[in-house]
Amino acid sequence: MRALLALTLSVLAACAIAPEPAPRWSIVVHGGAGIIERANLTPELESQYRAAMQRALDTGGGILESGGSSLDAVEAVIREMEDDPLFNAGRGAVFTAEGRNELDASIMDGRTRAAGAVAGVTTIRHPISAARAVMERSRHVMLVGEGAETFARSQALEEVAPSYFFTERRWQQLEENLRANNLPIPEPPAGAPSAPRAELAYPDDHQFGTVGVVAYDQHGNIAAGTSTGGTTGKRWGRVGDAPIIGAGTYAQNGICGVSATGTGEFFIRVGVARDICARMQFNGESAQEAADHVIADVGALRNNAGQPGDGGVIVLDGEGRFAWAMNTPGMYRAQLSAGGEPVVQIFADEQ
Ligand code: ASP
Repeated sequence: MRALLALTLSVLAACAIAPEPAPRWSIVVHGGAGIIERANLTPELESQYRAAMQRALDTGGGILESGGSSLDAVEAVIREMEDDPLFNAGRGAVFTAEGRNELDASIMDGRTRAAGAVAGVTTIRHPISAARAVMERSRHVMLVGEGAETFARSQALEEVAPSYFFTERRWQQLEENLRANNLPIPEPPAGAPSAPRAELAYPDDHQFGTVGVVAYDQHGNIAAGTSTGGTTGKRWGRVGDAPIIGAGTYAQNGICGVSATGTGEFFIRVGVARDICARMQFNGESAQEAADHVIADVGALRNNAGQPGDGGVIVLDGEGRFAWAMNTPGMYRAQLSAGGEPVVQIFADEQ
């Protein structure tokens, strides 16, 4: 009897601490974090965002289910999101104070820890593909500005006129930002459509809307990527965390994959993506524990204006189990594992 009791107790204990079974493949996606609240997101816009996040899962999940690589899934999903004007990446990116779209992206292959990144590019339609080309077809990890564009051209990546990235919504956000900072309003880029000045019904996500994907494929390979237009009204060639390996993006097979979004200055100072992975690798923290710790650390920092660090992360552990964390009221986010139900969430309090 006593033996039976002991056996039952040990089985129960094992169940309580056993991690969830590892999925065959999995993918987690974000579309930016920020002040996204129910009060300022119309039902139409909310359903557009949820549909876009579901599409991201469909695209990535389709590639992973058919045996494709995590790297291909990350690139394909981010390319679609770069084309979608809802997100601050590619078309729909935020503007600099000079009225330009300067785009940043990075990608990392967890199998080899090869990585590639571009920053401050203005004519590459899909910055994530340029980042991948830097990783696979150059001896470098990060290229910036005109040099990155020359390289992308040499690799026959698609080029567009700078006005391709223009959206009225982001232009109005720029005007608001510049007025608030007493800065002059520049001319819109040559060739930008002149749309009627409709009242904006968008959430105050003007700093955010970056996109990121982490995927785990059927071969056990993890990849992560991030793409952004940065922050509205940025100046002086400012670059955030998205193209910085170890800050906005990191992937290492058997350990982790991370993509971050938020005020990049804080994420660079913390080295967010690498710190999450290091906590998992050396402290034995779960993906959720590591994500929570690092977001708390970001929130404890202040900038010169006394503002706290804000943003969020998506994480996969070495076996494809997901976690996310944020200290903002919302983050567009979605997750799917082989054979599972899709999860699409926006507000921080959604479970
Ligand atoms: N992290 C990005 C940056 O600082 C912005 C964002 O995530 O929305 O450039």
